[in-house]
Amino acid sequence: MAAKLRRTKIIATLGPATESEEMLVKLITAGVDVVRLNMAHAKHDWTRLIIRRIRAASKTAGREVAIMMDIKGPEIRTGDLEVPIELKPGEIFDFTVKPGGERDAEIRSVDVNYRDLVNDIKVGDTVLVDSGLIRLEVLSKDDAHIRCRVLTPGSLTSRRHINLPGVKVNLPSFTLKDRGDTLVGIEEGIDFVALSFVREATDVELLRLFLKENNSRARIIAKIEDQSAIDNLDDIIRATDVLMVARGDLGIEVPLQELPVIQRRAVRLCLSIGRPVIIATHMLESMIGQPMPSRAEITDVANAVYEQADCVMLSGETTIGKYPLECVSILDTIARRVEEEQAADFPEPAVFIQERMKVFRAAVVLANEFPRSLMLVFTRHGTNAAGIAAHRPPRAPILAVTDSPETLRHLKIVRSVEPFLLTPFGDPEATIERATAALLKLGRITPGDKLVIVSDVQAKDRRIDSIQLRTVE
Ligand code: PEP
Repeated sequence: MAAKLRRTKIIATLGPATESEEMLVKLITAGVDVVRLNMAHAKHDWTRLIIRRIRAASKTAGREVAIMMDIKGPEIRTGDLEVPIELKPGEIFDFTVKPGGERDAEIRSVDVNYRDLVNDIKVGDTVLVDSGLIRLEVLSKDDAHIRCRVLTPGSLTSRRHINLPGVKVNLPSFTLKDRGDTLVGIEEGIDFVALSFVREATDVELLRLFLKENNSRARIIAKIEDQSAIDNLDDIIRATDVLMVARGDLGIEVPLQELPVIQRRAVRLCLSIGRPVIIATHMLESMIGQPMPSRAEITDVANAVYEQADCVMLSGETTIGKYPLECVSILDTIARRVEEEQAADFPEPAVFIQERMKVFRAAVVLANEFPRSLMLVFTRHGTNAAGIAAHRPPRAPILAVTDSPETLRHLKIVRSVEPFLLTPFGDPEATIERATAALLKLGRITPGDKLVIVSDVQAKDRRIDSIQLRTVE
């Protein structure tokens, strides 16, 4: 029987703790499927260097990984401060939108990098600073200042991120910095672009146009991080290639009790149309400093796997954490255990209306009849493999054979899919024979295994989808 596939994919964000070639090889060997670059903290020289290093490390490790460039999107930050300001409860405090403008000598203040904030915000709104650690309420505003009262005090340092729950911010979704970053990514051949603070489907469409204009086949990941995204969730899921539930910002922007409800809804909506979905942030947060996760984190990871998300993602755990490899191994262990449980008791998959999806469903039903079966799918653009994965086969892994290295990496994000490269594709029967020989050689299939094969067959002048059941000889 072939080696066991972990269905849930692991994404790790790179940072000082993991950017050396040695650590990259270890991360990839430990089972990371997608490496994420957070452009909020990245310079272009570093980005180019690191993308080449990831490709080299992946060669050394003998495992292909996909690269995700996570662009910052519209972001509001406080300005520089020479010394931190210790904000006191009840203190009156100003945010100034005209740098160098007039200040009230009696009232402490900080600059904000977004001039139109005065137009977007209303009296009574809440301003959250530094991941929600500091909370203020807007008391009044003029064209240069937003005057607030401190509700939750804290130490304000330079360039802190500002969240504005419920406020519709009119910043462009794809900023100048994002364009520059994405161009570098395209030149270096990234596989995914993650767009931060997507508020509506047109944000995704703009990025798609930009990628097309620049001849990139990178796939789009829409990050949902605020209430506007939730209001337009259905349309965003339809417009994007992949969805990310970016719980870091989302958990600040919406009432906290809404977060698990939104996560479940987003995963279900994605599953219902076969869109890959990533659960991100704070999965093993306590492991930034300690070698074991909290019991709540173990259950949070397990929950994402039970929900049948495609990927779980690490951020601080692998950028600055002391135990990045342990984090990957813990995600791997929890995911495998829950997947084993799911294989024994599987729910009905989503029902899709397209004819081709019905063929894939039939293939999954067939695979379910044989406990030792594997699905073997031939896929040029990844559509067939992702279409089968959308049916969430509970037992059989999906061995996806493609003739495109790019497709292979795109499939790294899709649950249950184990992609392999075989070039070139030719006559369907000969291609099946070459693929089975290669998989036998790799030890991925063994004699006696049942293969449910989804491929084209030549029928006179056209190719049609076929399902075959074969026993490996
Ligand atoms: C998040 O907010 O959860 C997230 C993934 O985005 P970022 O790390 O860019 O803040």
